Amino acid sequence: MTFKLPELPYRTDALEPFLSKKTLETHHGKHHQAYIDKLNKLIADTEYQHLSLHEIVVKASAKGDTAIFNNAAQSLNHSFLWESMSPEGGSAPVGPLGDAIDAAFVDLNGFQEAFKKAAVSQFGSGWVWLVVDSGGLRIMNTGNADTPIQRGAQPLLTLDVWEHAYYLDYKNDRGQYVDSFLSDRVNWAFAARNFEAIKVEVAA
Ligand code: MN
Repeated sequence: MTFKLPELPYRTDALEPFLSKKTLETHHGKHHQAYIDKLNKLIADTEYQHLSLHEIVVKASAKGDTAIFNNAAQSLNHSFLWESMSPEGGSAPVGPLGDAIDAAFVDLNGFQEAFKKAAVSQFGSGWVWLVVDSGGLRIMNTGNADTPIQRGAQPLLTLDVWEHAYYLDYKNDRGQYVDSFLSDRVNWAFAARNFEAIKVEVAA
């Protein structure tokens, strides 16, 4: 199959002032598009051509097909990123996810501190995630294109900490970028839906 760039779930200026229109246009229209274009070229007429993005990530990781893995994982990671941010973001998680955050991190402030610490300490390019792993919530860092999926963890939220995600707006101040995400644009509703879906699976 041929993969297509998913549309952003909001306008390119909708996350300002957290992220500028210019940043989103470049990050989505150039970077994400490039991963998809490269992936489509790499998988044409191969054993990967009829698989889903998720299946490609798992298989390419297991087989050590690095270029295919990198471009498939980055395609998947960016789709998840766009949903992890929202013009109506910020505030606090409520309901079962809010309870789980309190259980794992004491309170929302504890979560925010741990998430920021993980994001700022990621050396070089990568991602920071809130995941469900072994039945509990935890924060996970992944380097470059790596994704929690190949480690068997289920992602609830992510933030891209590659410089291309924030450099135009924050220069080298990754901490400010993370603070602004957590206070104004983190999409707790998306994380709560992911959490509820996992709970349903566990109960079934
Ligand atoms: Mn990116």
